[in-house]
Formats: sequence, C-alpha cells, structure tokens
Amino acid sequence: MADWGTRPLVLAVESDAARLGRTETELARSFGTSLRIRGEPSAAEAVHQLDGALQRGERVALVLVSDRLSQVDRGAVLAAARTQHPEARRVLLIDWGAWSEPDVARTILQGTAIGDLHSYVLRPWVEGDELFHRTVAEIVQDWSRADPRNKREVVIVADPHSGRAFELSNLLHRNRIPYAFRDRDSQRGQQVLRAAAPAPDGQVVVWMPAIGGTTLVDPSDAQVLDAWGIPTTLTEEARTVDLLVVGAGPSGLAAAVYGASEGLHTLVIEREAIGGQAGTSSLIRNYLGFSRGLSGSELAQRGYQQAWVFGARFVLTRWVEALEQADGLLRATVSGQGTVTARAVVLACGVAYRRLGVASVEAFTGQGVYYGASVSAAHALTGLSAAVIGGGNSAGQAVLQLARYCSAVHLVIRGPRLEDTMSAYLIEAIAGEPVITVHRSCAVTDAAGAGRLETLVLSDLTTGDTTTIAADGLFVMIGAEPHTDWLPEQVQRDRRGFVLTGTEAAAGPPDQRQPAPGPDRAPQPHETSLPGLFAVGDVRSGSVKRVASAVGEGSVVVSEVHQHLSVPRA
Ligand SMILES: Cc1cc2nc3c(=O)[nH]c(=O)nc-3n(C[C@H](O)[C@H](O)[C@H](O)COP(=O)(O)OP(=O)(O)OC[C@H]3O[C@@H](n4cnc5c(N)ncnc54)[C@H](O)[C@@H]3O)c2cc1C
Repeated sequence: MADWGTRPLVLAVESDAARLGRTETELARSFGTSLRIRGEPSAAEAVHQLDGALQRGERVALVLVSDRLSQVDRGAVLAAARTQHPEARRVLLIDWGAWSEPDVARTILQGTAIGDLHSYVLRPWVEGDELFHRTVAEIVQDWSRADPRNKREVVIVADPHSGRAFELSNLLHRNRIPYAFRDRDSQRGQQVLRAAAPAPDGQVVVWMPAIGGTTLVDPSDAQVLDAWGIPTTLTEEARTVDLLVVGAGPSGLAAAVYGASEGLHTLVIEREAIGGQAGTSSLIRNYLGFSRGLSGSELAQRGYQQAWVFGARFVLTRWVEALEQADGLLRATVSGQGTVTARAVVLACGVAYRRLGVASVEAFTGQGVYYGASVSAAHALTGLSAAVIGGGNSAGQAVLQLARYCSAVHLVIRGPRLEDTMSAYLIEAIAGEPVITVHRSCAVTDAAGAGRLETLVLSDLTTGDTTTIAADGLFVMIGAEPHTDWLPEQVQRDRRGFVLTGTEAAAGPPDQRQPAPGPDRAPQPHETSLPGLFAVGDVRSGSVKRVASAVGEGSVVVSEVHQHLSVPRA
C-alpha cells in the first residue's frame, strides 16, 4: 500500500562526500518541503534505501546516480530503481566539462537508449545553482505527470477492463491532458462517484476538478476535448480561410505557426490528437536543441499553443474527407461539419506506421521498442543485442547499421525468403555480417524485461516452435501507409500513395512519367499537381521521415503559399 502521508523520495548517490553534501543541500533548498531528500555515499546503502522505500510503500520521485560510481555500482542502483520503483526518474549526475569525455557521453546515450536512464544533470557547482534547480524541477515535473498516483486535473473512473476508458486515456495522453485513472471499486474511485456523478456499472465517468468540477458520463471524444477547451466544431468565421492545414503533426503545426504569424487566416483540422506520430514518441532525442530529449506530446503542445497565440484556429476529432477545386479556390469537406473554403491547402496528414499489435511488445514502446525512424539511434546500442522486424529495404539498411555497433542483430521476417522483398545488394551485405541472424518464417509473439526490453519470443510460423532471444532494442519496420485515397484524382501520387510535389508532380508518377495534367505553370517545390494544394512532411513522396524535416517543410511551405496567393486568380 502506498504511503500518501510521506513525501516522495529523492535519492542522490555519490561517493565523494563534498559533492554529495552540495547536491543534498541544493536539492533541499528547492525541493525540501515537498520531497524527502536523501544522499547516500555507496551503491549498497542506496539500494538499501530503495528496498526500504518499497517495504514502507513510499514513492520515489528521482534517483540521481554519480557518473563517478563504478559501472557495476551504478548498474546495481539503476537496476534496483528500475525494478522496484519503475515510475522514478533515473538520472546521471555529471560534472561541468564532462562533454569532453567520450565515455560519459556514451554512458548517457547507451543508458537512455536501453531505458536504464531517463536523463542527465550537471552537478551543482555553486550555492543556488539555478540551472541545476531548473533541470531537476523539469525532471520532477515529468515524474509527477507520469506517476498515476499523483493528483490530476482530469480523473477517469471506470471498470479497469473498460475498453472505452482505455481509449479515453489514450486521447487524454496524446493531447497531453494530465489525467489519472481510478478503478470504480477502489476507495478513491468511489469518492469521485459519490462527489461527482453516480453512474450505473459499465459507464465511464470523466471528472475535471481543474475545470470547476465538470463531470461527464460516458462522453464522446469530442465532448471530453470540448469540456477541456479544445474546439471540435467549426465556427462560421472558420468556414472561409486563407490557409487550411490538414493534420496537426509536426509539419502541420509548423505550417500553422508560420501561416498565422505571417498574417494568414489559418485553420487546422486534425483527426485524432495534436502531435501526430511524434505525439506517440515518449522521447525524441534527435530534435535540435533538446539534449535531454523531449517527449513528442510536449513538443506538440508547445507548437499548438504557439500557433494558437498567433491566431491559428484548430478543430480536433474531425478529418478532411474530400477536396475539390471551386472557382479557383479549394473546398474541403470536413467530417460531420460541412465545408471549408480555402485559398490554399497544406496537406500535412503524415503516415501511420503499421503497429505490431502484440500487447507485451507494445508495452515497451520507447523503452527499447521503436517504430520506424528511431533506428538512427543505433550506435547507442553499442555492444548490445538488437532485433529488427521487417523484410523491406529499410529493415535491411537498419540491420546493417545496427551491425556496426551491436554484438548480435536479429532480423525477423514472416516470409520464407528475403529475396521476395529486399534488394539483392542488401541481402548480400547481410550475409557477409557475422553478427546478423536472419529468422525466416518467424514472428515476434512476446516480450519481457524488468522496466525495459530484455528478451523477445520468436515463433516459427511453420512449426510453431518458440525461441527466446536477448534483445535490448527492437525496431519495428513493417511499413507505413499515407492514407491519401480521399484526394481528387488529379493530385499525382507515387504507387504507394505518397503525394508528389514540385518537379515530380509536374512529371507525373515515376512509373508513368507523363506530364501531370493541370497547372500551366510549374509547381513550386512543395506544391502538388493541383495548384494551391501543397504537401509537407511524411505524406510527401521522397520526404525524410523525421520530426525536424517535417517541421522544416511545414515552415518553408508558407512562403510558397504566399507566392501562390500573390498570383491573381484566373
Ligand atoms: C513511435 C514513433 C517514434 C518516432 N520517433 C522519432 C524520433 O525520435 N525522431 C524523429 O526525428 N522522428 C521520429 N519519428 C518520426 C516522426 O514522428 C515523423 O516523421 C513526423 O511525426 C512526421 O510528421 P508529419 O506532420 O509529417 O506527420 P504525422 O506526425 O504523421 O502527423 C499527421 C497528422 O495528420 C492527421 N491526419 C491524417 N489524415 C487526416 C485527415 N484526412 N484529416 C485531418 N487530419 C488528418 C493524423 O491524425 C496526424 O495527427 C517517430 C515516429 C513514430 C511513429
């Protein structure tokens, strides 16, 4: 049973007495009233503290481990924290100037890639070190949001097996609305039901103490977002706009920020949640300027607020289902909301990576399991084991990349032959890499690990035999789909449905290479074969599938939109 009366623990582990003293003093200065600060000089004593906290049902917010502890000692503390207090943030304490030491960088990179560490912090070097305080405050806030036992702005009360409660949790999580789930039979769940809304068994109650105690019984997604203040319906003034952006992933948010800030009346329609694919990434590590990484949903919320402040308007839980030209303008049909007329439209509707659909594997997403692009972090797995699922060229390139760093790499494909799906040069290169094992006619059917991915179960699809392999990282590369079939025929797409732009759009699809019918001027670099319709980010044929490039394309496309708008309509 968790002890709610006790302040959550912050534990610092440091063998040097002077350093430990300073860290403890600085932690106590800023956090001493709300958190219990404790310093330990050795791994054994730190592990003892963590054991004790577990026995007493105390919560642990943060464990700071010195980079000066031996690898074995550091590993012992991190393993105890990971397994006994999985919600606690695990952070490496490093010295100013440590960026000149490759070993420290490697420890951080590898530790975060395999889920041992969440982050790092520079030791306080002076009394009242504000950088230290700010960094720790951000990490503690991150813990506070992640620990479901903390008080929350929104509370869902439902049966623990309710599928609808799961969907609503996902909706709130992806829109970065802080929420807690309470079992309706628990003491705290019953308290909410008594105070807020008695509801028959099976019904889901959403209570919003931060919004005047608003209570919703069995609400739709739109009702929940509306109550929180996120619009889900079109207002009359949003029916005629300069710029319509389809999708609020990184590229759409960037287009909205630049469009609105440059004076365009801008509307964004988003089918699901702000942030798109990026919103599902627990930590984006390669976005410029965020050395500790940044959660995708946080990046998205910042972009959303920025666009909103500049005057962009958003409508969520709706999608654009048709588009047509009308009197030199573009008219979009929005699900359940009628039409919007726009002088220009930016398609920022991305792709959806096919999910594996194995619950035990999905549970490690971000803690060793990655979808698509994150394989760029391959070198973080130096000396460890990795697996890749997928038989396409991107999976082939991924295993070769991983083989440069990992001690063992497994490629898992459902079919009996790589030759059916992968280019010969890649197959040859894979055959020449002794660390790569190809598992043909196989599927990943289970995953396990203490707080992070450690093992995978492979099932032979022909014999039914199972094998367990060690895997610190799993990269799922089973394809991504752009979902562009609702666009009018004249919008040129490649054979996989990605939208052609610029010279490609003018030339037509690569396998047909006929000039696209339509515009009598060449499309601009991000313009499609339909004048005034632009495409950016992952949905665009040939784009680099990364957050930074999506943001870049969403930013630069607005100057092309201005160019289009400056030409008088025929
Ligand atoms: C799990 C995961 C982790 C990743 N990690 C990283 C990483 O660490 N670093 C990195 O650089 N990249 C990463 N990526 C890739 C990165 O997230 C994408 O490249 C990026 O999000 C693409 O942005 P986008 O705006 O083009 O499209 P998306 O992010 O796909 O956004 C498109 C949005 O459009 C909406 N939409 C679609 N159709 C319609 C419609 N008809 N009407 C209205 N809305 C619609 C969708 O709901 C979605 O919200 C990751 C991807 C995944 C899936």
